[in-house]
Amino acid sequence: DGALNVPALRAQFPVLAQAVHGAPLAYLDNGATTQMPLAVLEAMRVFETRDRANIHRGVHTLSQRATDDFEAARAVLKRFIGAGAEHELVFTSGTTESLNLVAQGLWLGGAGKAWLRAGDEIIVSGLEHHANLIPWQQAAQASGARLLVLRPDAAGRLHTADLQRLLTERTRVFAVTAGANATGERPPYEEMLLLATQAGALTVLDAAQAASHAVPKLSALACDFMAFSGHKMYGPMGTGVLAGRRAALERLHPLRLGGDMVEWVKYDSACYAALPARLEGGTPNVGGAVGLAAAAQFIDQVGRAAIDAHVHALRAQAVAGLAAIEGVTVLAPHATDAALLSFVARDVHPHDIGTLLDEQGIAVRTGHHCAQPLIDHLGLGPTTRASFAVYNTPEEVERLVAGVARALEVLR
Ligand code: PMP
Repeated sequence: DGALNVPALRAQFPVLAQAVHGAPLAYLDNGATTQMPLAVLEAMRVFETRDRANIHRGVHTLSQRATDDFEAARAVLKRFIGAGAEHELVFTSGTTESLNLVAQGLWLGGAGKAWLRAGDEIIVSGLEHHANLIPWQQAAQASGARLLVLRPDAAGRLHTADLQRLLTERTRVFAVTAGANATGERPPYEEMLLLATQAGALTVLDAAQAASHAVPKLSALACDFMAFSGHKMYGPMGTGVLAGRRAALERLHPLRLGGDMVEWVKYDSACYAALPARLEGGTPNVGGAVGLAAAAQFIDQVGRAAIDAHVHALRAQAVAGLAAIEGVTVLAPHATDAALLSFVARDVHPHDIGTLLDEQGIAVRTGHHCAQPLIDHLGLGPTTRASFAVYNTPEEVERLVAGVARALEVLR
């Protein structure tokens, strides 16, 4: 019936088989970082123990193998995201670097070449992680463009009609998340990207929370740039992707200038290489790219629809359980297609809840989730967030709900 064999899946994640403070670990912080299956660890072990060498530079066998491994990883990830012939994929250290590369790449270079100029407008959604906000603040300051925020309503929803009102002929960039990490909100980003594209803007999608879930193929989206991180999709930390339309990527001034990204160099000038090398200066994390590709294959083998059905059910169970506790408010309860939930409890600080849950072996995240303006906009303080992955179980959700109830009794 497409349901996951969770015990068999759990056995592929060695980190889960441990006790924390004497209780079996219930790892519910997957929105921050997921764990890695054996297949990912093994792919990286094979690379590091057989093919490890610098790429694109050597004529020797290991260098050629490493280059082949790196390019094979790129091809796997392009297929994973549904890239078309018009797309290219660049390896980065994560979503943060990918988004900085876009935001800075659109104003660096100057001398009339930059995409962003004084008087232009940048629209970012009000749901964004700091990584998809601060780079745009800086790009606006540096270029003289104006930063406009597409504000969510009181329930944390974004509306396409509001975007329509903000879009003008001055709009040059529209940036939005595919899933808000602080609330689980999933904006109608397909229509929004299309509207922004029709208005002549370049579009940016932060897919950090969405990459291990069912998302439309990149080729089906009006998306110029898409960013995500390996460590949130069962891959290694310090890996990530910037994918997008080749023509859009070509507009970016490279951030990392140096080896491997040039055609030729003289003492006083240089000619940058073609994509993707142009945006991948320096020695990349080849072992990480290999691991990230293995993670994409793991996700496709399990099946994104099956993963989503599983984590959405866990969220629904947690929302029902937590909302029944006196004084607990779940954010965005309507976001039934999310893999995470955030909640606040009257009179109790999330940090204290998180600490008491940890004492029961339950790992959650507390705080502003790097989305402070959104939390302020919603009139909230810090929250407690539980986020689910392929290996989580209904028993773990029961422990979460019981653990929160117990923590509130102790703390009130
Ligand atoms: N955007 C979103 C929506 C995120 O959830 C995160 C990670 N919390 C980021 C961006 C930043 O990702 P990274 O720290 O891997 O660069």
